[in-house]
Amino acid sequence: MKILVINCGSSSLKFQLIDSDSEAVICKGLCERIGIDGSQISYTPEGKDKITNVTPMPDHNRAIELVIEALTNKENGVVELSEIGAVGHRIVHGGEKFTKSVVINEEVIKAIEEVSDLAPLHNPANLIGIRACQKVMPGVPMVAVFDTAFHQTMPQNAYLYGLPYSYYEKYGIRRYGFHGTSHSYVSKRAVEILGKDAKDLNLIVCHLGNGASISAVKGGQCVDTSMGLTPLEGLIMGTRTGDIDPSVVEFVMKKENSTVADVTNFLNKKSGVFGLSDELSSDFRDLEDGYNNGHAGAIRAVDAFVYRVVKYIGAYTAAMGSVDAICFTAGVGENSGFVRKLICDKLSFIGAVLDNDANKVRGEEKFISTPESKVKLLVVPTNEELAIARDTFELCK
Ligand code: AMP
Repeated sequence: MKILVINCGSSSLKFQLIDSDSEAVICKGLCERIGIDGSQISYTPEGKDKITNVTPMPDHNRAIELVIEALTNKENGVVELSEIGAVGHRIVHGGEKFTKSVVINEEVIKAIEEVSDLAPLHNPANLIGIRACQKVMPGVPMVAVFDTAFHQTMPQNAYLYGLPYSYYEKYGIRRYGFHGTSHSYVSKRAVEILGKDAKDLNLIVCHLGNGASISAVKGGQCVDTSMGLTPLEGLIMGTRTGDIDPSVVEFVMKKENSTVADVTNFLNKKSGVFGLSDELSSDFRDLEDGYNNGHAGAIRAVDAFVYRVVKYIGAYTAAMGSVDAICFTAGVGENSGFVRKLICDKLSFIGAVLDNDANKVRGEEKFISTPESKVKLLVVPTNEELAIARDTFELCK
């Protein structure tokens, strides 16, 4: 079956067409600046060069029409419309309602709407993507795959904040966690690579990208993760703060005479390694260069980032009682031997020993620990689109 995977943002739409038998990507692409001047679709059919088409895209319906046109046109198309057997949608927030992927019907759409106040920037855009696909591909089954679902196994002591319990009961204020599709995919892949039974393994997955999160996976189930009610909590990220004292918000508002919206914006967009490096960059390639050239901001930012990751690894080792393997994934985790080395060299307290030669790897599955290391260290590239396509196939075959 050919599965179309859709990841719909407020002004962008990423897509991949995946063959469920071979798991090959038949075509992938991106619609940008939807509803804004200068919109364009770019896509790469398997084995061909990237094609870019600058064309008006007033809304997501038009974007989906253009995606279908790109996939089916005579010149560069890769399928007939009737060959697309199902569509998998990435949905950011499933609240407590969704603990796994589900086939989309009107009831599911309503439930996604109901938790939209937990992800006001993302869920409405995801819903627009679903509606647009229903219009352009009536009758084609669709599946919702939630970023939060994998973390729903967290025990109450891990997901509750130290707030009045009534806030959880009334408003659902708790830790949900994100990047769940990635944490699920990488932890399952690690179990396969380690060749053991999932129930016998305690794993820590470090998803280190522009957004970054870390999870503790015990016996195949997530028992803790670093992101919370929103993707702002936890690790220091590209531009997001991660953990801070909530009093910072009022303090800065008073000092800078700013609004909650202003502060929320800088916590999300001007902070993290970008803010710590005196705005040198949020990209770890630039930060690595800066670090090696003695840029004080880069050194400060990278050291704080690494410290926070190591602190969480210590906490999650304690939460699970022990750890068998630590996996690195996403842009930084898969590609930056530099960052991995800084982290792993601080893990002697759990008996982890990095193999410096193996650590030169980029973007492929590999053990990067020495044979005598008590804890296995692994690079496992994530593949959220494939995970979405697999769930979609399972529910629609
Ligand atoms: P992601 O959010 O998973 O797409 O990760 C994006 C981030 O990965 C970028 O902002 C960079 O910081 C980082 N990244 C990508 N490639 C490299 C690389 N070769 N070396 C270091 N960092 C990288």
